[in-house]
Amino acid sequence: MRPFTYERPTSVRDAVALAQSSGEAHVTAPVQYKGGGTNLIDLMKLDVMRPTRLVDITRLEGERLHTVERSPQGLRIGALVPMAVLADMPDVRRDFPVLTDALWLAASAQLRNMARLGGNVLQRTRCPYFRDTTYRECNKREPGSGCAAKDGFNRLHAVLGTSDQCIATYAGDWGQALIALDAYVEILSPEGPRSMLFADLHRLPGDTPWIETTLAPGELITGFVVPGGPWPRSKYLKIRDRESYAFANASAAVALALEGGIARDVRIALGGLATRPWRASKAEAMLRGQSLTEELAMAAAEAEFADAVAHEHNAFKIPLGKATIVRALMELQGMDA
Ligand code: SF4
Repeated sequence: MRPFTYERPTSVRDAVALAQSSGEAHVTAPVQYKGGGTNLIDLMKLDVMRPTRLVDITRLEGERLHTVERSPQGLRIGALVPMAVLADMPDVRRDFPVLTDALWLAASAQLRNMARLGGNVLQRTRCPYFRDTTYRECNKREPGSGCAAKDGFNRLHAVLGTSDQCIATYAGDWGQALIALDAYVEILSPEGPRSMLFADLHRLPGDTPWIETTLAPGELITGFVVPGGPWPRSKYLKIRDRESYAFANASAAVALALEGGIARDVRIALGGLATRPWRASKAEAMLRGQSLTEELAMAAAEAEFADAVAHEHNAFKIPLGKATIVRALMELQGMDA
């Protein structure tokens, strides 16, 4: 047991000031926000994360942290909304099934009740070498130490967006739905509120895999905005080793706007395959404005994986990822919406 202090600030601004005091934003920072704690506490028990101060934000009010709001401009979701609450909202399930599917398929009921959406998008990789401190080599846990996965057991590791320093897969599901729908993330920084595209939140590992996001010290995610919609013809297809409570081997968050068989708009994001939520822009570009056929869907999937890099045990993910794109598109094409 490593000692840490536990703070429960009464205002959002106090919370941000406390978190800023460490001067660091990334995951090894000594001050960490605690939401549902489903990932953070787990990693503290494993001795992977060693914060000296936890800032509990679950009871904070203000900044619309706990609300879900619909407007003609889209959907706004507070960062402290539990996964289960959004997953069970009937109008969101009707109009944005990709958002609710991704939550339903992400975790057990207990976790969905505890975990908050702000923390969900920041969850850490399940790379076994990252989670087991008896392995010395892990650049993400210990900068400069190496990467045990590259020559180790890498069946579940990424084939897109990897670097020499890290090949860990982004573990989340909901982030794929957000990036597919061009969502924004709202942030409270010590200087005030700001927002950015969700697509700009997560970094590729590059030479600094331990820095996973573009958040600055003290910055707190306060909400998400999904512009436009609805997207009734959307879904999250998750392929995994067992039917429930497992991480994706491959997944696709897909939203389709069809007009007379033509893909007027198409959004595709991939999970279980990449080091961050992955927008399949190359595939989208081949499909947009075209008559959607299985042959074209496969050609688009081929284009998306043209630069994929496999390691010893995970080459199966490349054909699996392509097939996941094609199946999701064909299922959406065939649905009544
Ligand atoms: Fe660490 Fe990344 Fe290598 Fe896993 S893949 S051992 S997280 S550096």
